[in-house]
Amino acid sequence: MKVPFLDLRAQHQSIQSEIFSLWEKIYQETAFVSGAFVRQFEREFAKACQVEHAVAVGNGTEALRLALVALGVKPGDEIIVPPNTFIATTEAIEQAGGKIVFVDIHPGTYNIDVNRIEEAVTPKTAGILPVHLYGQTADMDPILEIAEQHGLWVLEDASQAHLAEYKGRKAGSMGTAAAFSFYPGKNLGACGEAGAVTTNSPKLAQRVAMLRNHGQREKYIHELSGYNSRCDELQAAALSVKLKHLPKWNEMRRRCVQRYRQRLQNINGVKLPHVLDGALPVWHLFVIQVANRDAVAQSLQERGVGVGFHYPVALHLQGAYRWMGHDKGAFPVTEEYTQKLLSLPMFPEMDEEQIDYVCDALIELVRS
Ligand SMILES: *Cc1c(COP(=O)(O)O)cnc(C)c1O
Repeated sequence: MKVPFLDLRAQHQSIQSEIFSLWEKIYQETAFVSGAFVRQFEREFAKACQVEHAVAVGNGTEALRLALVALGVKPGDEIIVPPNTFIATTEAIEQAGGKIVFVDIHPGTYNIDVNRIEEAVTPKTAGILPVHLYGQTADMDPILEIAEQHGLWVLEDASQAHLAEYKGRKAGSMGTAAAFSFYPGKNLGACGEAGAVTTNSPKLAQRVAMLRNHGQREKYIHELSGYNSRCDELQAAALSVKLKHLPKWNEMRRRCVQRYRQRLQNINGVKLPHVLDGALPVWHLFVIQVANRDAVAQSLQERGVGVGFHYPVALHLQGAYRWMGHDKGAFPVTEEYTQKLLSLPMFPEMDEEQIDYVCDALIELVRS
């Protein structure tokens, strides 16, 4: 038996004709960029996220960057962010001119440790950028409270958490703004590249909409110096089709996790992710911790099980950030975690037989 880490084919076959008929229409009308499908998807996505505005952009990294620019980040502004995330989060901070300030993660949820944020706040702090990693939201209430006390904005990186919930609120609706990625492998993935910024602020939404299109509101009238980060119609049409199925697909992911938990919860040597009270994760990834991780991962792969490491090197120890001068041990929870984390196969269409195959192999390996 083979269990791939991710299988996009099953999902795309089921909606192929629906997407192709829309694409045919776009092709005939040759309206490829910034048209009716983009506007329709923006309305639908905002509604799904329980937020007033969604602005579709070129990809998730650009969604982060444009949101940061729209929030008014200027050189020297410090932005608090966890070191356990995909590098796009911190690239966007640098691109917007901000200064990265890492705060370690919580050992159970792997998201930013809210008890360590306050000690990182300085007079130069401008905002907090929590990442809803693997599909579970960060602990937003304490984050919003700290932000309120210190007059900071909060930008959610919701790239892995489409429609995840926290105490009844949707990811992307809680901060000052939020960024989403629709990279194909994400819970809501385009058939190419796309992203979006969500916000309840009409002013921020307007700014992002202008920034994505060379700072113009009217053609060739440039109120700002902006970027080219538009979403194309083919992607928007595909995303509208897929958004309708997303609640069901997220539910299927939760069922997969339920089975994983049944099988793995009492296994010595396996640590399962902790879910916050009131959180409803969407399990973009299912990441566990095991001792002797590298050997276990290799043996799983030899048995046909696709696995991943998200992420194998803490950001503060990456070559890209050597200049920041962080030594080993600077963020010990993240560093220890990078040695133990193991992402198991996870996609909505996985069946129980596949999950049991993964679990049987894993249980045998951690016992030997
Ligand atoms: C995927 C991802 C991004 C970047 O999105 P792209 O669409 O690939 O640019 C940013 N942050 C996180 C946490 C991600 O997982």
